[in-house]
Amino acid sequence: MIAFDFEYYKPSSIAEAVETYSIVQTQGKSAMFFSGGTEFITFARVNKLKADAVIDIKGIPECNVLEVQGNELVIGATMSLNKITESKLFPLLGECVKQIADHTSRNKITIGGNINSELIYRESVLPLLLTNAKVKITNGNEVETVSLDTVFNKEMKLKPGNFLLQLMVDTSYIDLPYVSLKRTKISKVGYPVVSVAAITKNNQIQVAFSGVCEYPFRSAKIEAILNDSNGTTDERIERVIAHLPSSIVDDIQGSGEYRAFVLKNVLLDTLNVLERVK
Ligand SMILES: Cc1cc2nc3c(=O)[nH]c(=O)nc-3n(C[C@H](O)[C@H](O)[C@H](O)COP(=O)(O)OP(=O)(O)OC[C@H]3O[C@@H](n4cnc5c(N)ncnc54)[C@H](O)[C@@H]3O)c2cc1C
Repeated sequence: MIAFDFEYYKPSSIAEAVETYSIVQTQGKSAMFFSGGTEFITFARVNKLKADAVIDIKGIPECNVLEVQGNELVIGATMSLNKITESKLFPLLGECVKQIADHTSRNKITIGGNINSELIYRESVLPLLLTNAKVKITNGNEVETVSLDTVFNKEMKLKPGNFLLQLMVDTSYIDLPYVSLKRTKISKVGYPVVSVAAITKNNQIQVAFSGVCEYPFRSAKIEAILNDSNGTTDERIERVIAHLPSSIVDDIQGSGEYRAFVLKNVLLDTLNVLERVK
């Protein structure tokens, strides 16, 4: 049960959503966007968050797109993880999001909600970091398209009142050789101890990580190490561990030492697959 009352709005256009947010704020109330709602409901039930109003963006047509337009795959922010997998439009993304939660939850969980999640994992962002995706976001009353890395640094950095509408991936990326590997503590369903997505482009391996540090990331330094033909595979992997952008997560899912061990094995598997197709 959720122990507080909140207002529920379901606008049918971008302008209406922006206006609703503004009106609610003017009334001195707190508002948040609501996509699949799974995280809102989970956190609200245990009093980890509170909002006076939620603005459900599933009624906005731009958020419900999932199709190739010209040379871009356009993914609406409210697309459920299952719909993305079932569409088979972007195999790496489909495979990566298929490893999040259980099948029933993935009918509700959306890509926009996962990327904007308060949790540290945000696994669906990995393929998007690898493919230099663009995002369509609101900026006040305007809509703008920017590269993902201008608004995603460890987490989405949207100003209050702005929200994610769409993600766009250049179609030249979607059929590249890929690997998506996730390791959890016990069962198949669980937060990642380590999750890695990788592709090869122009004979270079590109790789993004979740579960290793306190945020998902892609690192030019790590990719340079992995693509360096000097040294053995084991030496390159040791250098990767030494060049992680911050300390390894050490929590109930796995100690830092255990995560480092799992990461080494996942990188070995990744290189084994991708170096054969380079
Ligand atoms: C059983 C279970 C297992 C899970 N396992 C994993 C896992 O292994 N890996 C992983 O990465 N995650 C995992 N999660 C976390 C889950 O993916 C996120 O909590 C979920 O993605 C939230 O999606 P949602 O669409 O329900 O978001 P919502 O609850 O609707 O929103 C989540 C947050 O994002 C904001 N938001 C939503 N949409 C937008 C938008 N378009 N623009 C701006 N802000 C927005 C909301 O305001 C809210 O703060 C798991 C969750 C469950 C329930």
